[in-house]
Amino acid sequence: MVKIKKEGVLLVISSPSGTGKTTICKKLLEYDKNIHLSVSVTTRKKRKNEVEGIDYYFKTKKDFLNLKSENSFIENAFVFENYYGTLKSEVLEQLENGIDVLIDIDWQGTRQITQAMKGNLIKIFLLPPSIDELKKRLSKRNSDSVEEINFRMSRALKEIKHYDEYDYVLVNNNLDKTFQQIVKILESERLKLSKQLYLPEFIKNLNIT
Ligand code: 5GP
Repeated sequence: MVKIKKEGVLLVISSPSGTGKTTICKKLLEYDKNIHLSVSVTTRKKRKNEVEGIDYYFKTKKDFLNLKSENSFIENAFVFENYYGTLKSEVLEQLENGIDVLIDIDWQGTRQITQAMKGNLIKIFLLPPSIDELKKRLSKRNSDSVEEINFRMSRALKEIKHYDEYDYVLVNNNLDKTFQQIVKILESERLKLSKQLYLPEFIKNLNIT
Protein backbone atom coordinates (compact mmCIF):
# COMPACT_ATOMS: atom_id res chain seq x y z
CA MET A 1 0.00 0.00 0.00
CA VAL A 2 1.10 3.54 -0.74
CA LYS A 3 1.47 5.87 2.25
CA ILE A 4 0.98 9.59 1.66
CA LYS A 5 0.01 12.61 3.72
CA LYS A 6 -3.47 13.82 2.81
CA GLU A 7 -2.65 17.06 1.07
CA GLY A 8 -3.14 17.51 -2.69
CA VAL A 9 -6.39 16.30 -4.24
CA LEU A 10 -6.12 13.32 -6.57
CA LEU A 11 -8.68 13.64 -9.36
CA VAL A 12 -9.15 10.72 -11.72
CA ILE A 13 -11.15 11.30 -14.90
CA SER A 14 -12.31 8.45 -17.13
CA SER A 15 -14.51 8.37 -20.18
CA PRO A 16 -14.74 6.62 -23.50
CA SER A 17 -12.41 8.17 -26.12
CA GLY A 18 -14.10 11.10 -27.85
CA THR A 19 -16.00 12.45 -24.85
CA GLY A 20 -13.94 15.62 -24.49
CA LYS A 21 -11.80 14.39 -21.59
CA THR A 22 -8.48 15.58 -23.01
CA THR A 23 -9.83 19.06 -23.78
CA ILE A 24 -11.30 19.36 -20.29
CA CYS A 25 -8.04 18.25 -18.67
CA LYS A 26 -6.15 20.89 -20.68
CA LYS A 27 -8.65 23.57 -19.60
CA LEU A 28 -8.18 22.56 -15.96
CA LEU A 29 -4.43 22.99 -16.26
CA GLU A 30 -4.84 26.46 -17.76
CA TYR A 31 -7.36 27.39 -15.09
CA ASP A 32 -5.15 26.47 -12.15
CA LYS A 33 -1.38 26.20 -12.06
CA ASN A 34 -1.54 24.14 -8.86
CA ILE A 35 -2.77 21.14 -10.84
CA HIS A 36 -0.33 18.60 -12.23
CA LEU A 37 -1.45 16.38 -15.09
CA SER A 38 0.08 12.95 -14.64
CA VAL A 39 1.85 11.98 -17.87
CA SER A 40 1.35 8.28 -18.52
CA VAL A 41 3.71 5.80 -20.11
CA THR A 42 2.39 3.97 -23.17
CA THR A 43 3.55 1.52 -25.79
CA ARG A 44 1.12 2.84 -28.39
CA LYS A 45 2.35 4.76 -31.44
CA LYS A 46 2.68 8.51 -31.13
CA ARG A 47 -0.07 10.40 -33.01
CA LYS A 48 0.91 13.28 -35.31
CA ASN A 49 0.00 16.05 -32.89
CA GLU A 50 1.44 14.40 -29.77
CA VAL A 51 4.61 15.42 -27.96
CA GLU A 52 6.90 13.11 -25.97
CA GLY A 53 6.78 13.94 -22.25
CA ILE A 54 3.70 16.11 -22.62
CA ASP A 55 1.04 13.77 -23.94
CA TYR A 56 2.75 10.53 -22.96
CA TYR A 57 6.13 8.97 -22.40
CA PHE A 58 6.27 6.70 -25.46
CA LYS A 59 8.16 3.49 -24.71
CA THR A 60 8.86 0.13 -26.30
CA LYS A 61 7.15 -2.89 -24.79
CA LYS A 62 10.51 -3.99 -23.37
CA ASP A 63 11.08 -0.65 -21.62
CA PHE A 64 7.52 -0.64 -20.34
CA LEU A 65 7.91 -4.11 -18.83
CA ASN A 66 11.22 -3.05 -17.26
CA LEU A 67 9.51 -0.13 -15.55
CA LYS A 68 6.82 -2.52 -14.39
CA SER A 69 9.33 -4.96 -12.92
CA GLU A 70 11.05 -2.05 -11.13
CA ASN A 71 7.68 -1.33 -9.45
CA SER A 72 7.59 2.17 -10.97
CA PHE A 73 3.85 2.15 -11.66
CA ILE A 74 1.03 2.97 -9.32
CA GLU A 75 -1.24 1.23 -11.85
CA ASN A 76 -0.95 -0.19 -15.32
CA ALA A 77 -3.33 -1.75 -17.81
CA PHE A 78 -3.61 -3.21 -21.26
CA VAL A 79 -5.94 -0.89 -23.22
CA PHE A 80 -6.67 -1.00 -26.98
CA GLU A 81 -3.93 -3.61 -27.44
CA ASN A 82 -1.30 -1.39 -25.86
CA TYR A 83 0.17 -1.02 -22.40
CA TYR A 84 -0.52 2.12 -20.39
CA GLY A 85 0.78 2.95 -16.94
CA THR A 86 0.82 5.74 -14.37
CA LEU A 87 4.20 6.39 -12.80
CA LYS A 88 4.39 6.78 -9.02
CA SER A 89 6.78 9.69 -9.66
CA GLU A 90 3.97 11.57 -11.46
CA VAL A 91 1.62 11.36 -8.50
CA LEU A 92 2.91 10.72 -4.99
CA GLU A 93 5.49 13.46 -4.56
CA GLN A 94 3.11 16.06 -5.98
CA LEU A 95 0.34 15.10 -3.57
CA GLU A 96 2.74 15.24 -0.63
CA ASN A 97 3.75 18.73 -1.70
CA GLY A 98 0.15 19.92 -1.75
CA ILE A 99 -0.16 19.86 -5.53
CA ASP A 100 -3.40 18.49 -6.96
CA VAL A 101 -2.94 15.69 -9.47
CA LEU A 102 -5.17 14.99 -12.43
CA ILE A 103 -5.10 11.52 -13.98
CA ASP A 104 -6.76 10.53 -17.24
CA ILE A 105 -7.03 6.74 -17.21
CA ASP A 106 -9.47 3.97 -18.01
CA TRP A 107 -11.67 2.05 -15.56
CA GLN A 108 -9.09 -0.71 -15.01
CA GLY A 109 -6.45 1.79 -13.88
CA THR A 110 -9.00 3.61 -11.75
CA ARG A 111 -9.75 0.41 -9.86
CA GLN A 112 -6.05 -0.17 -9.17
CA ILE A 113 -5.44 3.42 -8.06
CA THR A 114 -8.46 3.30 -5.77
CA GLN A 115 -6.85 0.36 -4.00
CA ALA A 116 -3.34 1.81 -3.93
CA MET A 117 -4.56 5.14 -2.53
CA LYS A 118 -6.97 3.46 -0.11
CA GLY A 119 -9.83 5.44 -1.58
CA ASN A 120 -8.15 8.81 -1.05
CA LEU A 121 -9.10 10.15 -4.48
CA ILE A 122 -12.03 11.60 -6.40
CA LYS A 123 -13.30 9.74 -9.44
CA ILE A 124 -15.18 11.43 -12.25
CA PHE A 125 -16.73 9.70 -15.24
CA LEU A 126 -17.71 11.61 -18.38
CA LEU A 127 -20.49 10.33 -20.61
CA PRO A 128 -21.17 11.42 -24.19
CA PRO A 129 -24.62 12.98 -24.80
CA SER A 130 -25.48 10.06 -27.11
CA ILE A 131 -23.88 7.19 -29.00
CA ASP A 132 -24.44 9.02 -32.32
CA GLU A 133 -22.60 12.04 -30.98
CA LEU A 134 -19.76 9.83 -29.76
CA LYS A 135 -19.47 8.24 -33.21
CA LYS A 136 -19.35 11.69 -34.79
CA ARG A 137 -16.66 12.89 -32.40
CA LEU A 138 -14.54 9.79 -32.93
CA SER A 139 -14.80 10.10 -36.72
CA LYS A 140 -13.75 13.76 -36.64
CA ARG A 141 -10.33 12.78 -35.28
CA ASN A 142 -8.12 12.44 -38.31
CA SER A 143 -5.34 10.77 -36.42
CA ASP A 144 -6.95 7.33 -36.20
CA SER A 145 -7.72 4.87 -39.01
CA VAL A 146 -11.29 3.64 -39.71
CA GLU A 147 -10.48 0.27 -38.13
CA GLU A 148 -9.14 2.01 -35.06
CA ILE A 149 -12.24 4.21 -34.83
CA ASN A 150 -14.52 1.15 -35.02
CA PHE A 151 -12.42 -0.63 -32.45
CA ARG A 152 -12.50 2.38 -30.14
CA MET A 153 -16.26 2.60 -30.60
CA SER A 154 -16.73 -0.95 -29.35
CA ARG A 155 -14.32 -0.29 -26.47
CA ALA A 156 -16.20 2.92 -25.64
CA LEU A 157 -19.39 0.96 -25.08
CA LYS A 158 -17.54 -1.39 -22.72
CA GLU A 159 -15.97 1.53 -20.84
CA ILE A 160 -19.39 3.14 -20.32
CA LYS A 161 -20.56 0.03 -18.44
CA HIS A 162 -18.23 0.99 -15.57
CA TYR A 163 -19.78 4.43 -14.95
CA ASP A 164 -21.14 3.29 -11.58
CA GLU A 165 -17.65 2.78 -10.10
CA TYR A 166 -17.16 6.57 -9.99
CA ASP A 167 -18.06 9.29 -7.47
CA TYR A 168 -19.37 11.78 -10.03
CA VAL A 169 -20.88 11.06 -13.44
CA LEU A 170 -21.27 14.01 -15.82
CA VAL A 171 -22.92 14.03 -19.24
CA ASN A 172 -20.76 16.21 -21.44
CA ASN A 173 -23.43 18.10 -23.38
CA ASN A 174 -21.51 21.31 -23.19
CA LEU A 175 -17.76 21.54 -22.68
CA ASP A 176 -17.81 24.80 -20.70
CA LYS A 177 -20.58 23.61 -18.41
CA THR A 178 -18.85 20.29 -17.75
CA PHE A 179 -15.60 22.11 -17.08
CA GLN A 180 -17.34 24.41 -14.57
CA GLN A 181 -18.87 21.41 -12.84
CA ILE A 182 -15.46 19.77 -12.47
CA VAL A 183 -14.01 23.00 -11.06
CA LYS A 184 -16.79 23.01 -8.44
CA ILE A 185 -16.01 19.40 -7.51
CA LEU A 186 -12.29 20.16 -7.19
CA GLU A 187 -12.82 23.30 -5.13
CA SER A 188 -15.15 21.47 -2.74
CA GLU A 189 -12.62 18.68 -2.31
CA ARG A 190 -9.91 21.17 -1.45
CA LEU A 191 -12.06 22.39 1.45
CA LYS A 192 -12.27 18.95 3.06
CA LEU A 193 -10.86 18.85 6.56
CA SER A 194 -8.32 16.19 5.59
CA LYS A 195 -6.81 18.46 2.94
CA GLN A 196 -6.40 21.57 5.11
CA LEU A 197 -3.33 20.62 7.08
CA TYR A 198 -2.74 24.17 8.30
CA LEU A 199 -6.00 24.20 10.29
CA PRO A 200 -4.65 23.05 13.70
CA GLU A 201 -2.12 25.92 13.59
CA PHE A 202 -4.83 28.35 12.52
CA ILE A 203 -7.12 27.27 15.36
CA LYS A 204 -4.24 27.50 17.86
CA ASN A 205 -3.66 31.09 16.79
CA LEU A 206 -7.29 31.93 17.47
CA ASN A 207 -6.34 31.66 21.16
CA ILE A 208 -9.61 30.11 22.23
CA THR A 209 -9.64 29.67 26.00
P1 5GP B 1 -5.40 7.12 -25.93
O1 5GP B 1 -4.57 6.06 -26.57
O2 5GP B 1 -6.59 7.50 -26.79
O3 5GP B 1 -4.59 8.32 -25.52
O4 5GP B 1 -6.00 6.52 -24.58
C1 5GP B 1 -6.71 5.32 -24.62
C2 5GP B 1 -7.26 5.01 -23.26
O5 5GP B 1 -6.20 4.71 -22.36
C3 5GP B 1 -8.06 6.14 -22.62
O6 5GP B 1 -9.26 5.60 -22.09
C4 5GP B 1 -7.18 6.63 -21.52
O7 5GP B 1 -7.91 7.12 -20.43
C5 5GP B 1 -6.45 5.37 -21.14
N1 5GP B 1 -5.17 5.66 -20.49
C6 5GP B 1 -4.28 6.64 -20.75
N2 5GP B 1 -3.24 6.60 -19.91
C7 5GP B 1 -3.47 5.56 -19.07
C8 5GP B 1 -2.75 5.01 -17.96
O8 5GP B 1 -1.69 5.46 -17.56
N3 5GP B 1 -3.32 3.93 -17.36
C9 5GP B 1 -4.50 3.40 -17.76
N4 5GP B 1 -4.99 2.37 -17.06
N5 5GP B 1 -5.21 3.89 -18.79
C10 5GP B 1 -4.70 4.96 -19.44
